[in-house]
Amino acid sequence: MAKDTERGSGLQIGMAADGQLPLPWMADALLRSAAMAGAHALLIHGPAGAGHLEFALLVAQAALCEVPGAHAAGRPCGRCASCHLVATRVHPDLLLVLPDALRVQLGWVDDEDSKLNKAEAKPSRELRVEQVRQAIAWSQQTSGRGRGKVLLLHPADALNLTAANALLKTLEEPPGALRLLLTSADPERLLPTVRSRCQRLPLHLPAAPEALAWLQDHGLADPAALLAAAGGSPLEALAWAQEGLSATVLAVLPRRVAVGDPSPLVGRTIPRVVELLLKLAHDAQVLSVGGRPRFFAAEHLPADADPAALRAWQDALLRAARHDDHPWNAGLLIESLVSQATAVWAVATPAPGRNTVRAGASLHSAR
Ligand SMILES: [Zn+2]
Repeated sequence: MAKDTERGSGLQIGMAADGQLPLPWMADALLRSAAMAGAHALLIHGPAGAGHLEFALLVAQAALCEVPGAHAAGRPCGRCASCHLVATRVHPDLLLVLPDALRVQLGWVDDEDSKLNKAEAKPSRELRVEQVRQAIAWSQQTSGRGRGKVLLLHPADALNLTAANALLKTLEEPPGALRLLLTSADPERLLPTVRSRCQRLPLHLPAAPEALAWLQDHGLADPAALLAAAGGSPLEALAWAQEGLSATVLAVLPRRVAVGDPSPLVGRTIPRVVELLLKLAHDAQVLSVGGRPRFFAAEHLPADADPAALRAWQDALLRAARHDDHPWNAGLLIESLVSQATAVWAVATPAPGRNTVRAGASLHSAR
């Protein structure tokens, strides 16, 4: 469980001293990164939960590693002074730019960061233009240890428009031996001018057997349902398990929601609830056209979703997703989203006293 504790307090940064990768499925991508060592700007992209930050830190550590040959092999040694400075987040030639909200989440708030410590305002989820300007000023100073500098922006799709524009010139012509690493789970959200200035390095989720083995190593006895619900990301599945989600909860959740019972969702955060319900809605839609559900087991899903009601429910969920940092009353919002689900499966599971005839909806819907 030692690894759990490490992850709970943040994440493992860089190569371990014994040569173990922070996440074992990164070996191939790391090898590919070595072939791209000449690129001034890398866009590390891949599905959410692939471990973009862990991987980018590894690439940064390899670029700054002071053991001869490490750079060319893409693997930092994990033991030299430079590797140690990266792992302890004090390397003078590595600047990691994160949204304030993520720094708070990782517990990486400096003592002097009084604004975030006081938590007066909600920490930003964007990469702000002041952060980019400070990073550009930093990148123009001489390298502290003489092996170049690495500027890491995570996630780059959190750059707001002004911040992205402020970065363009540096992306076009990085000063000195500066390397830029940008990460994104959704590169289409980046400005085309940012995308086109980067070489792309794809990061993949591990195959299911590798992911399941990793989760079992981290103490999950029955990880298959969690891994599926987390879209194949073992990092997400582990985070969900740490929040108390389990195969049992996932098995009962669809039918409970279908009858308007929010109990499997009570006490969870709004973003997590909305994500689970969007995945349930996705699977209901796939099932209704004869497809194979992706996130929940088919035998746990209620059948006969009403297409029009399902679309209306998805719209409501997407609206909630867009506003998931608003100060909603969480309990009320969850109840409301779950009660709207009863209309979706009203044919299959008529609630007592509920009018199951809905305007505009029929079994022979146009879709
Ligand atoms: Zn090293």
